[in-house]
Amino acid sequence: MYTNRVIGEYEQGRPGPLLIFIGGMHGNEPAGVYALSRVFLQLEVFKTPFFGKLVGLCGNCAALPHGKRYIDKDLNRLWSRSEIARVRALDAQQRNTEEQQLLELLDLIERLLEEAEGEKLLIDLHTTSAPGGLFSIVSNDAYNRELASALHAPVIFNLMNSLSTTTNVYIEDMGIKGLAFEAGQHDDPRSVDIHEAAIWLLLEQAGCILPEHVPETEIYHERLITAARHLPHYVQVTYRHAISPDDRFHMYPGYTNFHQVYKNEPLARDKNGAVKCPTSGLLVMPLYQPQGEEGFFIVQQIDEPPQ
Ligand SMILES: [Zn+2]
Repeated sequence: MYTNRVIGEYEQGRPGPLLIFIGGMHGNEPAGVYALSRVFLQLEVFKTPFFGKLVGLCGNCAALPHGKRYIDKDLNRLWSRSEIARVRALDAQQRNTEEQQLLELLDLIERLLEEAEGEKLLIDLHTTSAPGGLFSIVSNDAYNRELASALHAPVIFNLMNSLSTTTNVYIEDMGIKGLAFEAGQHDDPRSVDIHEAAIWLLLEQAGCILPEHVPETEIYHERLITAARHLPHYVQVTYRHAISPDDRFHMYPGYTNFHQVYKNEPLARDKNGAVKCPTSGLLVMPLYQPQGEEGFFIVQQIDEPPQ
């Protein structure tokens, strides 16, 4: 597994936005790393005309070789101002694996942000343990909404209220733009293809590459449109089922992302017995892996982004 922190950098000296992509923030989600490698290879081979700068970073370089979500702590739960300040105040030997990973990433990201003169974007590439996890997670900011819409996939709002320490919170705190994107199931080769298409479409949407210079742009649009064909456009989170390892949470088999579920439907079991669905809606991110802080989310379809 690729574990160099910097997957690639590409620029041609033309002014434009800075796009930082992170793949493998969770060590069992290599699809984003593979997709970024493919994109950098294409850019280098074809010398694609480019405005601004693209940087691809590996998220959890310590957990990726082990195929584990994390070694000591979830790296994507450390991005709030208070967590960053807490980790920075620790002595080096007190820091756990992911706290060290966080600081290495922040050193690079903050240097890049300081040097950049145009728009600054951070895109965090993920995959899910259940099938069908194709969606963007954004703050309700007009630019970010447009960015997410360019990917044709469902857009989840209000997830940040439940997950206050992810990269989305850092994006908002730093006053930059961006989103988190989920491309499908962890080990499905199609997740790499979806991430690859999404990276090209985001480069196009951000103005780094002209549409005529994106190789096979129609194929990338079509790939995402087809994958998202039966999925809702906008949803918002109405329930988060938080868990801890002591709960011994086990999702019942067969659930996928955006599966319609009903109030009182038994979805899982834990140490107290059946876990019943508290409200009808669409299931998102049902947990089918040993490590995780949420058993599932329930979302509701909405016609317009929330105000
Ligand atoms: Zn993830």
